Amino acid sequence: MKTIKKDVLIIGSGLSGLYTSLCLNDTLKIGVVTKDHMDKSNSVLAQGGIASCIDKDDSLASHIKDTMSAGSNVNNVDAVTLLVSKAPKEIHKLIDLGVQFDKDEHGMILTTLEGGHSHKRILHAKGDATGQVIMETVVGQVLKKENIEILKQTMAIKIVFHSEQVVGVIVLNNNQFVFIETSVVVIASGGIGALYRHTTNHPFSTGDGIVLAKEAGCSLVDMCFVQFHPTAFYSKEGDKKFLITEAVRGEGGKLLDRNYKPFMSKYDKRLDLASRDVVSKSIVDCMQKQNIKHVWLDITQHSKDFLEKRFPTIYAFLKKHEIYMEKSYIPVAPVAHYFIGGITTDLDGRTTVDGIYACGEVSSTGVHGANRLASNSLLECLVFGKRTANHINKRLTKNNVLSQQSQITQHIQEQMKVLDQFPPCNDQAPYLKFKNLIQSVMTQYAGIIREDKALTIAYEDICKIKQEVQEFKAVCPLYFEVFNMCIVAEQVILDAIEKDSVGCHYKISSSDNES
Ligand SMILES: Cc1cc2nc3c(=O)[nH]c(=O)nc-3n(C[C@H](O)[C@H](O)[C@H](O)COP(=O)(O)OP(=O)(O)OC[C@H]3O[C@@H](n4cnc5c(N)ncnc54)[C@H](O)[C@@H]3O)c2cc1C
Repeated sequence: MKTIKKDVLIIGSGLSGLYTSLCLNDTLKIGVVTKDHMDKSNSVLAQGGIASCIDKDDSLASHIKDTMSAGSNVNNVDAVTLLVSKAPKEIHKLIDLGVQFDKDEHGMILTTLEGGHSHKRILHAKGDATGQVIMETVVGQVLKKENIEILKQTMAIKIVFHSEQVVGVIVLNNNQFVFIETSVVVIASGGIGALYRHTTNHPFSTGDGIVLAKEAGCSLVDMCFVQFHPTAFYSKEGDKKFLITEAVRGEGGKLLDRNYKPFMSKYDKRLDLASRDVVSKSIVDCMQKQNIKHVWLDITQHSKDFLEKRFPTIYAFLKKHEIYMEKSYIPVAPVAHYFIGGITTDLDGRTTVDGIYACGEVSSTGVHGANRLASNSLLECLVFGKRTANHINKRLTKNNVLSQQSQITQHIQEQMKVLDQFPPCNDQAPYLKFKNLIQSVMTQYAGIIREDKALTIAYEDICKIKQEVQEFKAVCPLYFEVFNMCIVAEQVILDAIEKDSVGCHYKISSSDNES
């Protein structure tokens, strides 16, 4: 059995995982496992920007108030205060690392508005390519570090314990199980968008980290809080995936109904810049009442020059679909976008199990309440990624690393033996069928509007799918992904049944649906 030894193993190479790795001491041997390559993550896809109050007319109090208000005021106030107050410092750190935010002709950083923000405080880079610019810089820095090893196309499968202590992680690489010995694991595996048919997320967002944590005994929280972004591009094929950033509405974009009339005034006084939960629900209501599959987004008041410069990624994408933002309305509809709930952590990234940390989208400090404020999540990766690293740095002093780690025991070999008995994967078709089934159930029953009786049916459906999936055990990432999707789906549905409506979790009673 191949074994690798690390002081810290990070699961995920998005912004949270890589930023944590950069903030860990250089004396530590760090491994980062990633399902694909470093240029594939939701972090890279981030468009709109990153929130921080840098304007003299803005204030931390206002950013805190907006974050709480978007989150239906059920946020963890300490987490919000920390997030907002550390934001300017983290932005400066990014600039020091080499990130170039967009500036005006006087060299001042430009900011824009997004839904739920009462001030212009969203910094952006290369127009609508903020995630890509930040990640290119962070990846560049990580590659310079000799103590960080990136293990690409490597999927974490199981956290292993011995005598109640974390001793390592079993990973799957090139159809082989490998044991990575470590006493500290950081789960930074991102969201769960792939559980839904229509999502802005990368298809690998199957919630693996949630299952790794759950099986290790970590507690989970607010699993039913899934945020739906109001405006993904709707194509004739019904393929809603590409995000049209909220910054388009920040620059004056208006949502229009089937008769090309603005409709947000019927729902919220903040109109098109109400928080995401409100705008998504309003669009669904409008679509149901008018029996349409999408609404329109109108940004035609701006010139081609402005739009091409401000939204180069979106402009180029739409052009391929023969939509020209300066003269055509954009067909849009809500899709699954961001996972608010997740692995319970404190403000230092500690889960409820010693030795296991979590940060980024997979974690839940309670900072987002019941609905995340736009552009607060890249920030979350930085602020809580750094705190996670700081805590681990204190925990692992130079003298007690590696030498304190246990040897590979009989117990670990036994666990590996069980997995080694899995047959090879000869056919991907059954797993793709299961993925499809799970996505159908989640999209139909656990979407923007939920209903108790339907959720119960959904739970039964997922349990049946899970039973079938287990008969297809194989040495193949797809098997583990599909199994993980079943477990996460169960948790989302159970929490949705239990919780009353709040923020992005919106339930109607059966009678409302029948009327
Ligand atoms: C299209 C889009 C636009 C967005 N725009 C913005 C924005 O403008 N501003 C903002 O603040 N937020 C935005 N967000 C949200 C934000 O990008 C994410 O919340 C954030 O980047 C999550 O970072 P992360 O590091 O937690 O996870 P990710 O960036 O998703 O990275 C997860 C990593 O975990 C790895 N992984 C997963 N499972 C395993 C496993 N079992 N084994 C090994 N590796 C694993 C993946 O390979 C990946 O490397 C956007 C999201 C999307 C999808």
